[in-house]
Amino acid sequence: MTNDILNQTVDTGLTAYQKCVEIAHNLWWSWHPDVVEIFRLVNPQRWRELGHNPIALLREYKPEEFEQVITDLAIHTRINVAYRHFKKYVGERPLWARQHAGVLASRPVAYFSLEFGIHESMPIYSGGLGVLAGDHVKSCSGMGVPLVAVGLFYDKGYFNQQIDANGNQVENYVDTDVANLPFEPALDKNGNKITIEVNTKSGPIYARVRRIRVGRVDLYLLDADLEENTAENRELTSTLYGGDQKRRILQELLCGVGGVRALTALGITPGVYHLNEGHNSFATLEAVRQKMVKSGMSFEAATRDVAQQTVFTTHTPVAAGHDYFEKSLVEQYLEPLYKALGLDLDSFMALGRKNPKDDDEKFCMTILGMKLSRYANAVSSLHGVVTRRMWKGLWPDKREEEAPIGHITNGVHVPTWMAPQIKSLFERSMPGWSEESIDPTIWSEVYDIDSGDLWETHCALKNRLFDFARRRVGRQLTRIGASAEAIEEAKHILDPNALTIGFARRFAEYKRAFLVVQDEEKFDQLVNNPDRPVQFIFAGKAHPADNIGKDVISRIVRVQRNPKFSRRVIFLEDYDINVARHLVQGVDVWLNNPRRPQEASGTSGQKAVLNGALNFSILDGWWAEAYDGSNGFAIGDGSTHVDSRVTDKRDGDALLDVLEHQVIPTYYDRNEHGLPIKWIRLMKNSIATLAWRFSSHRMVADYVQYAYMPAAGGLSVKMPR
Ligand SMILES: *Cc1c(COP(=O)(O)O)cnc(C)c1O
Repeated sequence: MTNDILNQTVDTGLTAYQKCVEIAHNLWWSWHPDVVEIFRLVNPQRWRELGHNPIALLREYKPEEFEQVITDLAIHTRINVAYRHFKKYVGERPLWARQHAGVLASRPVAYFSLEFGIHESMPIYSGGLGVLAGDHVKSCSGMGVPLVAVGLFYDKGYFNQQIDANGNQVENYVDTDVANLPFEPALDKNGNKITIEVNTKSGPIYARVRRIRVGRVDLYLLDADLEENTAENRELTSTLYGGDQKRRILQELLCGVGGVRALTALGITPGVYHLNEGHNSFATLEAVRQKMVKSGMSFEAATRDVAQQTVFTTHTPVAAGHDYFEKSLVEQYLEPLYKALGLDLDSFMALGRKNPKDDDEKFCMTILGMKLSRYANAVSSLHGVVTRRMWKGLWPDKREEEAPIGHITNGVHVPTWMAPQIKSLFERSMPGWSEESIDPTIWSEVYDIDSGDLWETHCALKNRLFDFARRRVGRQLTRIGASAEAIEEAKHILDPNALTIGFARRFAEYKRAFLVVQDEEKFDQLVNNPDRPVQFIFAGKAHPADNIGKDVISRIVRVQRNPKFSRRVIFLEDYDINVARHLVQGVDVWLNNPRRPQEASGTSGQKAVLNGALNFSILDGWWAEAYDGSNGFAIGDGSTHVDSRVTDKRDGDALLDVLEHQVIPTYYDRNEHGLPIKWIRLMKNSIATLAWRFSSHRMVADYVQYAYMPAAGGLSVKMPR
């Protein structure tokens, strides 16, 4: 924080309570550790129990009580500094955007996503796609890129995960108390609350529009829980990815078409439409319809115009990750839309088909997105190759390499994912460094950091993770009625001196959480080696309908409950942004072993980089372009076999082999001061070569240059292949 903020003496006349309330209503606080610390200090226990939600915390105090707490803690100055910092932040438009994204100022990017992972207290995300959207929005805020975000509000969110006494996943949906979320009603230009309406053959659906501020970016969330709706439609936005295909098509209709209508009602004219995954492709059709109405254009001409303004990002090479809808569903729910476009059912179905005339093909949202956008991208270089192969049939006259799909590799929001302790170490030791920087020479200053300081900081974070894990495991054991000994034993799990490997992600089969325990004998030897032990912390949810994924969870939990492993193999319940933050900040190694090439990018390993953890991964997704031989560890050589069992065997063997011969020896190789010098060198290589490249600021800069500016009519720069 710069001194001029500290030295300002503007008296706002607001109480500390009022300032905190104002700060709590902008998710800006969530990536500012100094501000988070203020809320925590007010009442550390309640802060934890309330899921790190500052509005819920503030609601527990009368203003005068709160002032007393602040006085007792002597944190008035901290609050004043935070408040001035906040006001300065929201009041200015950064230079970067003025220089690079000028034309977007009057006509912003409209960014559509079915989930947003911004903070654990806003449970409207399930995993990587949502967290990526959250990081995208935060970087746009930081860089000042004019963008409005559009999504749905799910009042029961995604499920909370518990593991029961039998080791099985149990899913609980919890009602979010809306009064605890930083919502403001979205108002039209006359100051009236906006309700939008979307028509279907079975009647209209209404939604209110809620606004949340994420730094300088406004996020608009549509919520169908309104009295005007039928009982069934009121449930439409209750959960994320719950329900059947009918619920799904209606959610996508509401978010896409309703989202564009909400922007119109707000008086916002987007210069660019960015579709984060195929779920929101209907947005383009509403934009086309509005153009036809407004300018009397034909469907074809309006479609060309909208496509020129549209950026489409695809996120998965796994077939089940793409939405396909039956013709009957399309007819039932989209008839008013296609009629308004002057189309009949067959010509509409053609927009979502590879072969427009094939009546057996369902309606694919990804295909619609590809057809209605001029700028389509995959999310890593390798994913680009796979995506062109997957969808080349859409361009029968083009060769595979010529398919118009480029790539922009995902990145993560540094201020969100870097531990405050690492941040202050960098601020002390790297004079030119700021968390916003994407300049490689600046990040190279990491080599000047005292190795002992870096190691000490890492070890402190590791201990913090272990405290967290012990607390969580203890809580779980208490809940399932475990014995007093077992609960006591949970206080002794995890050895601070042992090499600690984290594995946390969705438990989809292709992510293969089972790979490391496949050869249990070898696993036992490595984990329980008395001189050089290894321990694992797992976390992750399986989709409620994914029985294979659930079985994998049970398998890991069985390993954990085997007395041979119980101190060294831990499964943490309820993976969310909070658990992710503790894990990526505290482990020594971040493991990722998907079946290549099914991981489009992966981002959790990028978060680990920021905290000095080393990646240990299959050469897939972002790691295929990131690994250089001296910034982490690679499993296998990128080859695969047609039979996935053969691939799994080979990869599992390669994993344990690299672990035994590279990871473990390097970690335990200590100098006379007990420092793992070679390991620390790898940590520095990893930070210096990867942190800036896989930051979401770099990603957003790429989107601006290769997609947003060309789509808004600016200079056209060819997107990387
Ligand atoms: C970052 C993150 C993910 C995505 O991680 P992947 O490496 O892409 O699997 C998923 N869930 C949470 C909670 C995250 O923070």
